[in-house]
Amino acid sequence: MNHGLRIGVLALQGGFREHRDVLRRLGADVVEARLADDLHGLDGLVIPGGESTTIMRLARLYGLDRAIRAFPGPILGTCAGMIVLDRAHLGMVDVAVDRNAYGRQVASFEADLAVVDGGSPLRGVFIRAPRVVDVGPSVQVLATLDGDPVLLREGRVLVASFHPELTDDTRVHERFLDLVREGMHVGA
Ligand code: GLN
Repeated sequence: MNHGLRIGVLALQGGFREHRDVLRRLGADVVEARLADDLHGLDGLVIPGGESTTIMRLARLYGLDRAIRAFPGPILGTCAGMIVLDRAHLGMVDVAVDRNAYGRQVASFEADLAVVDGGSPLRGVFIRAPRVVDVGPSVQVLATLDGDPVLLREGRVLVASFHPELTDDTRVHERFLDLVREGMHVGA
């Protein structure tokens, strides 16, 4: 069903292999993107977790910051990838985050996440995760942990503070591929 979708996974640093593997299991064609030119012709882009300062530094070095801003298709950002997309960085999703906020108490943990529009809870793996501290009016909250938004969508951009690529539950990636298939090339 996802055959023929060309998805790029930003492969500068962090957990890009796990995203690549999930997307391939779901039938997409996956490209590891390391240079600005690699984004040409992609239907969707994933920015993985890792270390946001490192990802931002390398992205600037390779001109990928501008290429990502200009990318017209759906984007999924997880953990550090969410930070890269937030108000303070590339400004592609109207959220403010507090970096490593969960990590101050305990570096990593797993929890069941409440899915806002119903469905069984999502299992979330949190690794020095950012906490969303402010959400703009056009951002939709899709899942929460103890009342905090942890999965959000603004138009074609989907962000998670946790790591959906580290569990067997593929619903976040499937939702992303749905956006890609729907051709969400303009913000809604
Ligand atoms: N703590 C990392 C950061 O700031 C994010 C951690 C992660 O992606 N697992 O940037």
